[in-house]
Amino acid sequence: MKKILLLTTLLTTMLFASLRVDTTYSTMGLITQKIGGDLVNVTVLGSAKYDPHFIVLKPSLISKLRRADLLIMNGGGLELGWLPPLLRAANNAKIQNGMVGLLDMSHYISMIDVPSSVSRAFGDVHAQGNPHFATDPHQVLVMAKAIKEKLI
Ligand SMILES: [Zn+2]
Repeated sequence: MKKILLLTTLLTTMLFASLRVDTTYSTMGLITQKIGGDLVNVTVLGSAKYDPHFIVLKPSLISKLRRADLLIMNGGGLELGWLPPLLRAANNAKIQNGMVGLLDMSHYISMIDVPSSVSRAFGDVHAQGNPHFATDPHQVLVMAKAIKEKLI
């Protein structure tokens, strides 16, 4: 009887376990939580109190990425200074480049301000265009559609 109860509990937990979604920034986290409701467990990696280019690296971020089923990143080079080493350390195959568990939002956005040439003489520029599209209210629907499709 105990085995049947344990098996039932295990199956119920597996069926109704929420998808662990990490997002690099809060806008994508809020959209994901609104769409996914109880079916997602969202963690925002980059606190809004930090400059989005330079998120403070903490070991806790590695363990969060290690357990993630899905990573939703801004892309466009915005996380270039902090996300790659965390992804390497987390060693989670599900959320690596090219895998189904990674959503790069910049792939759904028409990037603006793409420089025609990039040089160190220009200082620190975004070579792929302006990645700060999450601050544009017109892009919220575009991001929401991409997140909905990925969650489905
Ligand atoms: Zn920037």
